[in-house]
This record gives sequence, structure tokens and C-alpha cells, in this order.
Amino acid sequence: MQSTQPVFIYASELEAYHYPSSCPFKTERATKTRGILQSMGSAFFREEKPRPATDKELKLFHTDAYLKMLQRISGGDLRADDLFCGVGTDDCPVFPDLYSYSVLAAGGSIRAAELLLAGDTRRCFNPSGGYHHASADSAGGFCYINDVVLACKKLREAGNRTFCLDLDAHHGNGTQAAFYDDPSVFTVSFHESGKTLFPWGGSEEEIGDAAGRGYNVNVPLPAGTDDDAFARTFSAVVPPLLDACRPDFIVLEIGMDILAVDPLTHLSMTNNAIADVMPLLRDRSLPMLVLGGGGYNPEATARGWALAWQVLCGAETESDLTIGMGGVFLGNAEWSGGLRDMRSYARGEEKRSIDEQLRATVDSLREKVFPIHGIAA
Ligand SMILES: [Zn+2]
Repeated sequence: MQSTQPVFIYASELEAYHYPSSCPFKTERATKTRGILQSMGSAFFREEKPRPATDKELKLFHTDAYLKMLQRISGGDLRADDLFCGVGTDDCPVFPDLYSYSVLAAGGSIRAAELLLAGDTRRCFNPSGGYHHASADSAGGFCYINDVVLACKKLREAGNRTFCLDLDAHHGNGTQAAFYDDPSVFTVSFHESGKTLFPWGGSEEEIGDAAGRGYNVNVPLPAGTDDDAFARTFSAVVPPLLDACRPDFIVLEIGMDILAVDPLTHLSMTNNAIADVMPLLRDRSLPMLVLGGGGYNPEATARGWALAWQVLCGAETESDLTIGMGGVFLGNAEWSGGLRDMRSYARGEEKRSIDEQLRATVDSLREKVFPIHGIAA
């Protein structure tokens, strides 16, 4: 049935826009992902185009003054004061038509939310989404318009409870801020600890405020965290919170900057880390909106996204693990394991230290957050 096919949001127009060449953010990762999926047989999903987010939708989160400023800058008029809103920095550089790009990318996530709301599909992936650092009135970390927040608000407008799970290597600070006192969107962020990575926050002590207390969960991962430590921590935290939240929708960001090969971060994971935990979400049979996010090794990012998307759609088969990729560049010619990376593990004292830190984080969440939701210790 076409109506239940997973949907891949894609427009080649998006990749006509480019951040400056010195910037590690590359817009062409969606095309690379699509190429891999097509080479493996793409009959399991269909494509939909994004549309630009409307002014009304953008103002569900962003201030009018900020949007006007972005439009002005996009037209080439950058002023010294704009630096206070994060634009014109190395992290959020000015590039031609950045406003059109951001609004179209965000519109892809809103379109995905609409398709899910209409029941047209149960899985929707916008690899050109996941701009989780943008706040209501400022840009940050390559993000100008926060499509994660806009999509969650779209779902909430229709009366739904959303579980927003951010697995990007960076803390989803813009998304956290948007819903910090709002229990209708349960935000959970796994990320490299703010002790070693931008945006330098996201501790387990930040658990929400007022009515939203207990509805914001952070799981900082020590530098060097490997697949095993991630899977163990994920399994201890996410299933009980999902049981407690009983969401109508899951919004999931799968930044591939968690990979050991990522040049900006310090985690030691392979793409198996995300793929291995996807069944814990997939098997809930909830509608899922999947967003890309970071990932600064474009080839590894595309392979990780293709793998995670296949697993989420139940499309990964045994043969994918053994059959060569027929023309797709895998990044490691000696490995013929399909989309999956070779696993690697932390060892010795580093492993002991990581395990100890993560155990303490889980204990803290069990003590401070779980009781708010009546989750037994
Ligand atoms: Zn990131």
C-alpha cells in the first residue's frame, strides 16, 4: 500500500545552497544518502518534496525581529549588531540566500509532520533537518531556523503528545529551551558532554522547569563513549521514559557526528550504535519523524543515515550485511559488511572511567526524574 510507505523528504534545490567552503557543514549529505538507498533498492520508500515554511509557521517559535534580520542578512546586508544574534560568526556564517535555504529545509520537517498527521505514512525522514541549536531569536552551531521545534509545535497544535529524542553529538540546546517548561513535548538529548563539546551545556541536572519539570532529560556522554556504553545507557533510559510519556509521535534526530570518524567531536561510536537501538523505537509502532542533524564526515554520515533509516523501516536484510555495494563508495575498501561499520570498543582504564560516569548519570536520572513519572527504581 503506497499510503503506508515510509517517506523520504528530498529536493535537489536544497543542495544548490552552500555554506562557505571553509565551513564543515555540507548540504549535499541528503543526496549521498539517497544515492546509497537507491543503489540498494529504494522500493521500500517514496519521496516527497519539502515546501518552504510559512511566516505563520516560523513565528510559532521565532521572533518577528529575528526573522526580519535573517532576511536582511540573506540579502547581503550584515551589520555589526547581528553578531549578538549569532550570525556572521564561524559557527553561523553568512552565505547567499541562507534564509531561503533555512526556510525550505525547515519546511521539509513541517511537511513531514503534516504527512504523519494526515496518516499518509508512519515514518518520514528529512535528512536536511535537525537544526536544534537555533533559538527563538538567535542562531547557533550552523542552525538558523529550528525545524525540530517547529515540527514538534505542528504536532502539538493538533493536540498530540510528542517524545523528541535527540541523538546528535551536540546538546539540543535550542530545542530544550523551547520546551523547558512545557510537558507536552518530552525532550531527551543524548550528546557528548558539555565539558568537552559545544554548546557546553546539557548536564543531567537540567530536567525542566515549572510544569515541564521532569520532561527534559539530558544524557551527557563522556568523550570516548563507544557503541556498547551507548546502547547500555540508551536501554536504561529511553524505554522507561517512553512508557511513562505514552506519546502520540516520536521525533528523532540522528546526527552522525557521534561517529568516531567525525572531525568535530570526540565520541568513539560506529554507525552500529544508532542502528542497534533503532528497534527499541521502531517496535513501539508509533508514527516517527526522523531528522538528520550534524555529521561532518559526509560519506560516513550518509552511510549511517541510510543504515538507520533502513532499520527503522524494517528494510535491512541479512543480504545487506554480506553483499557488496555495487558502485557505492563505502569509505573503507577492505570492509564488505554492507552499510555497517566495523565495530570498535573502548578498553582498559578509559572503558572503566566511561562506564562509571555513565552509571552515575543513569543513577541521577533514576533519582531525580524517574519518580516524577512514577517509574519504579
Ligand atoms: Zn551535532
